[in-house]
Amino acid sequence: MTKNNINSLYIHIPFCESICDYCDFTKLQYFRNIASTYLEALEKELTETVTNHDLLTIYIGGGTPTSLEDDLFLKLLQIVDPYSKKAKEYTIEANPESLSVNKIKMMKEYGVNRVSIGVESTDDRILKDINRHHTFSDVKKAKELLELNGINNINFDLMLGLPNVSIKMLQKDILNILSLNPTHVSCYSLTVHEHTVFHINKITPPSDEFSYEAYRIVDSLLKKEGFIHYEVSNWCKPNKESLHNLTYWRNEPYYGVGLGASGYVNDVRYKNTTNLSMYLKGTNAQEKEVVKLKDLEIYQIMLNLRTIEGLDLEKYHRLFKKDLYKEKQQIIDGYIDSGHLKIVKNHLIPTFEGMMILDKITLDLIA
Ligand code: SF4
Repeated sequence: MTKNNINSLYIHIPFCESICDYCDFTKLQYFRNIASTYLEALEKELTETVTNHDLLTIYIGGGTPTSLEDDLFLKLLQIVDPYSKKAKEYTIEANPESLSVNKIKMMKEYGVNRVSIGVESTDDRILKDINRHHTFSDVKKAKELLELNGINNINFDLMLGLPNVSIKMLQKDILNILSLNPTHVSCYSLTVHEHTVFHINKITPPSDEFSYEAYRIVDSLLKKEGFIHYEVSNWCKPNKESLHNLTYWRNEPYYGVGLGASGYVNDVRYKNTTNLSMYLKGTNAQEKEVVKLKDLEIYQIMLNLRTIEGLDLEKYHRLFKKDLYKEKQQIIDGYIDSGHLKIVKNHLIPTFEGMMILDKITLDLIA
């Protein structure tokens, strides 16, 4: 089903200068010698896994890719270089404090054309409380440096529902972010995961009511400035959607390399080991799920409905020989009447309200 056209590659760099109190990503404290060995294992995995050298999107995430010292950062870019020649979108995640002029110049030289900056809050006291080591002034500086060096496609990540952040403070965060003239903004609601400092400190995640209100405020402020709410947690200026992330939401295949990375290749969804010593010894995929037709159908509904492209009912019919609208007419009509879904040009599309209860809608459609 997915044998051809793997056009996207995700690369995981798990190192961070310090560990944030809420973080549940696959990450490790940065140590030069480990990072250096890691890059060798990564190069080996890339060579063995990625057969298409004409990729359209590349995304280097983490962790914090910019935590690598300059020579290792350069090595990373050189390792990825053979795959990036035709990339339309080449993104690197960065923390504001480690985004130096040197690194930006290297990115530009190697074709990186999009940077995603972890801001999380624009209030310096809140940043300190969650063990982030930058200030909003670092964010401004990073953004200026990127633009000075010709990288203008910039995403800012914000976290919603952090402790002691009121709706009023969130409004201020969005206005601060808007003052930077971004092309893309991502806002994720805080989840308190086990084994995090937040969990140990018994921090409570935001209530559903708070999250709803937070998303509503973000949405209205960003829309006023011409942003499109194109995915549950993502807003962009016209034509600035993350092409890489659209691959995931369109349920298309992609390579994933690096510690804990996930991929979807030749009908198999896999997740690499999160055990560093195993990874360095060359053991990669730890979990594998062969995607059967029924699973593909569930993924198609679940992922396509996350964006305003929606679920193409004609394509669905072609793929699964089923008329979803006919089969679920009562449910779909109910959600259309309540303002959660709409059908435009044979695409089933969530409204803002629909995006806020997407899990429920998806469950009703796949049941
Ligand atoms: S910088 Fe990102 S990946 Fe690293 S600890 Fe903080 S949230 Fe986690």
